[in-house]
Amino acid sequence: MRNYLVKTPWWLRVLYPSGFWRNPAKSGKVVYLSFDDGPHPTITPFVLSVLEEYNAKATFFCIGDNVRKFPQIFRQIIDRNHVVGNHTFNHLNGWKTDDETYLNNIREASQLIPSNVFRPPYGRMKKSQWRLLKKAFPEMKVIMWDVLSGDFDFQIDDITCAENVIQNVSNGSVIVFHDSEKAFPRLEKALPKVMQFLKKEGYRFEVID
Ligand SMILES: [Zn+2]
Repeated sequence: MRNYLVKTPWWLRVLYPSGFWRNPAKSGKVVYLSFDDGPHPTITPFVLSVLEEYNAKATFFCIGDNVRKFPQIFRQIIDRNHVVGNHTFNHLNGWKTDDETYLNNIREASQLIPSNVFRPPYGRMKKSQWRLLKKAFPEMKVIMWDVLSGDFDFQIDDITCAENVIQNVSNGSVIVFHDSEKAFPRLEKALPKVMQFLKKEGYRFEVID
């Protein structure tokens, strides 16, 4: 039984009305690809090479501690003109973390990740944390999503993972993948398949910033 939703329902958006969930283009069709939890020494370069094949730009929500461990990989993301985002320093779950610890963890990550976009790990943060974030980083935008690939779910295969995206994507979708070890068994085949589909359907790939 799945304990996550592939397509973000309307009521979840209502909980966080100022978050960025989906942003349809006025002309043509656009998608916002995002990759969470990196950088990773082999999986991030794999993602970068697939994106390059499609001439696509994406947004990478990085964990501060992984940036500390793999600074060259982090550099590669930036050098290839993708956008990097803050995903806390230690991948904290906001619902289980006190406000001060949570904000300090974002601050610590921000020292390594120059960015105006933030995605809360698991999509979970308290309203009080949201308010504190806005106060500490007035420019910071909170980026949620519209479609979860489910690449982190070891109970599904790569075909289901690709279908999760293909069946649910629409103009303006923010799509979530992970450049992580946990996701790679599905990501490796699902990502090229999804890219092929989106290209064939005439989607443009844009970054969130
Ligand atoms: Zn994450």
